[in-house]
Amino acid sequence: MTKVADKYFVTDPWKIIEEGFNPDYSRVAESIFSISNETMGIRGCFDEGGSIDSLRGMYMNGVFEIDETLPKSYKGIIDKTHFMIPCADWLGLSLELDGEMLDLGKCTFEKFRRELDLRTGTLTRSFVWKTATGKSLKLTFIRFVDMTDRERAYQRICFEPENFAGVIRFSTGLSFDVIHEGYQKKFWGNTKVEADGRSVMLKSATMVSKQEVFAGMRLFLDGNPVDAEVIKEEKAARLQYSIALEKGQRTVVDKTVVMLFNGETGNQLWDSGLVTLENAAENDFETALTRQKAFWEDLWKASDIILEPQSVNDAQNVAEEQQGVRFCIFQMAQTYRGGNPRHNVGAKGLTGEAYNGHAFWDTEACCLPFYLFTNPDAARSLLIFRYNTLAEAKNRAKMLDCEGACYPIATLNGDEACSLWQHASLQFQPSTAVAFGIWHYVHVIGDRQFLFEFGAEMLLEIARFLKSRAAMNPHTGQYGYYGVMGPDEFHMMVNNNAYTNYMSKRSLEYATEVLKEMKTAVPDQYRRLAQKTGLTDAEIDTWQHYADNMYIPMNDKGLIEQHDGYFGLPHTDIQSIPVEEFPLYNHWSYDRIYRTDMIKQPDVLMMLYLYNSSFSEEIKRINYEFYEPRTIHESSLSPAIHSILACELGRMDEAIAFFGHATRLDLDNYNRNTREGLHTTSIAAAWINIVYGFGGLRSDGEGLKFAPYLPNRWKSVSFSILYQGRLIRVMMLRETIRITLENGEPIDITVYDKTYHLGRSELEIPSM
Ligand code: BGC
Repeated sequence: MTKVADKYFVTDPWKIIEEGFNPDYSRVAESIFSISNETMGIRGCFDEGGSIDSLRGMYMNGVFEIDETLPKSYKGIIDKTHFMIPCADWLGLSLELDGEMLDLGKCTFEKFRRELDLRTGTLTRSFVWKTATGKSLKLTFIRFVDMTDRERAYQRICFEPENFAGVIRFSTGLSFDVIHEGYQKKFWGNTKVEADGRSVMLKSATMVSKQEVFAGMRLFLDGNPVDAEVIKEEKAARLQYSIALEKGQRTVVDKTVVMLFNGETGNQLWDSGLVTLENAAENDFETALTRQKAFWEDLWKASDIILEPQSVNDAQNVAEEQQGVRFCIFQMAQTYRGGNPRHNVGAKGLTGEAYNGHAFWDTEACCLPFYLFTNPDAARSLLIFRYNTLAEAKNRAKMLDCEGACYPIATLNGDEACSLWQHASLQFQPSTAVAFGIWHYVHVIGDRQFLFEFGAEMLLEIARFLKSRAAMNPHTGQYGYYGVMGPDEFHMMVNNNAYTNYMSKRSLEYATEVLKEMKTAVPDQYRRLAQKTGLTDAEIDTWQHYADNMYIPMNDKGLIEQHDGYFGLPHTDIQSIPVEEFPLYNHWSYDRIYRTDMIKQPDVLMMLYLYNSSFSEEIKRINYEFYEPRTIHESSLSPAIHSILACELGRMDEAIAFFGHATRLDLDNYNRNTREGLHTTSIAAAWINIVYGFGGLRSDGEGLKFAPYLPNRWKSVSFSILYQGRLIRVMMLRETIRITLENGEPIDITVYDKTYHLGRSELEIPSM
């Protein structure tokens, strides 16, 4: 591994803390201090803005603009894309004391501290502002987005003058006059603006996608503000006050915000917005905070992972890992709750403009297991998103001269939004990942109603696509894929990428199995589906034929060639690449990375991870030993997958090193690009890293299987999973593994290949 940690934040079991402010780290900290509630997300930017380097981003899930100005290109390459845009700025405020405006890029301040509390989802920032006139004013800013009523957000500002009494000028408001940094453009058009002495209400629409959003705020002020003034602009409004502050006394201003994006438009949206604002304003900040704490308390009860160090020498490392794991769980739980099937999990969640808010194959390959075992409704919702966008996937297949459905590489609304032909036209892992996701969901949850009503149609269309895109080798009669790119994006336009071939084979087999089962299990439903799609028995048979004859390039020792010709590529010693050259895409010319055997992320190893139970330990060992030294982990999805396989192969030093990387990927800025936003989807990998890696959970075989491997520096690790209506707690100790059924019906589980009955009493099994 060549990547190294860049430590900045203070270690704490439940908080992410920044002590003192480093302007060079400002964007990284903004990403880390992002909060969201699936519906809205906000970077950790300063309330007052100012001249500090910042990406001021407040986003709403599903709010995007369309760019119709891409050059017309070859068939199959999109000429229109869409991307997440910043929504109304609901945080903005300005403070003026003795004629000096608060701007941490220019003012003098001390005792700066910022902390994100993972138990409450609140972000708190405090410091003492020292004005040029000698005044010291302690300021504390608190914000959170409501996890229950997800159109609500709250902001509190506390003023505590340390050495004076006097008047501060304060203004706060809402604004759709916001800029997209990448495009350097503002995308909000016609805006309705209303305001009175304590509220601001705006409604605006994007210019091309015509999405409409209502933003409203209500202010609650201590004391007797004077000179209240309402300032209205074309796309914004703010309320301005003079507030009298007393020495040593605390004055508080609270702001309740609502942001509504519910598909309504015009007056209907406006009226709903007003009602939503009134309802939100009935609860004060403290009441909302109490409810917020209760939400997180419940969530942690079911989802926490607890690590204990083996010895005092291990304490610091384990404390960092503990913080990293909780940060990852926190990010996953706040980014997606399954509240709306129009939402998905963007590769950067709602934490930045990079990747345009798009969802990738990461959703099914990396995030789904977290939701499957902590929030099954959310897992279902993610798959319903794919069902609801089946028409777009069919359209995409047509554009590529294929049949069936080809799911997009990157999307917010189901349309392909990736304009790079190498990716959008050559990579099929979203389609095979959706098939895998359906299988995994049904396998774990047992939801056959979903399978027959939604899953079967998706599988059928994916199978059609995979069959139509495959081609036969005239010498062998076997099928494969020509001119493709697998998960390893450092090798494009290759033939017979093993991952693509294998995932296609499994998808075709599963589609065959499900459609055949459906025909006998639910004949009426099957008939309706066959009529709707024109499906025949003969077509199903061809899928099986393709699957049976799919070429999997494996030698007699079990080593799988990543793609035709890979073994003949020139070698790069990845250890010799200096850390300053990461991320490579910023330092190496685009084509330079394609010329050797260096791979970006697990490709062969990814399929060994996904269909783990289908491969022997020997095959995993041979391929791990061959591919790991060639992998640069330039994709953040990479380290956790390697860690999981390393655990299985007993390579515990590597497993723990990869785990450290995966679990603190953003906290320690391993890839040197956290400033652009969090690697939200790979953050999910930190959870699978513990549960699948060290816990040895396998959910791709029959029933639930564990094979725990405890690294030397942990005395214990415990985690919980939800499984078919049961809450199961696993505690791994050095000598034993304790498994408890916290609620639900007894069940048989397998630990180290032996089956046990998990009933009311705790199971205690010797560790291996
Ligand atoms: C990875 C892809 C991934 C995307 C979004 C890329 O760097 O190579 O596999 O889908 O990031 O996370």
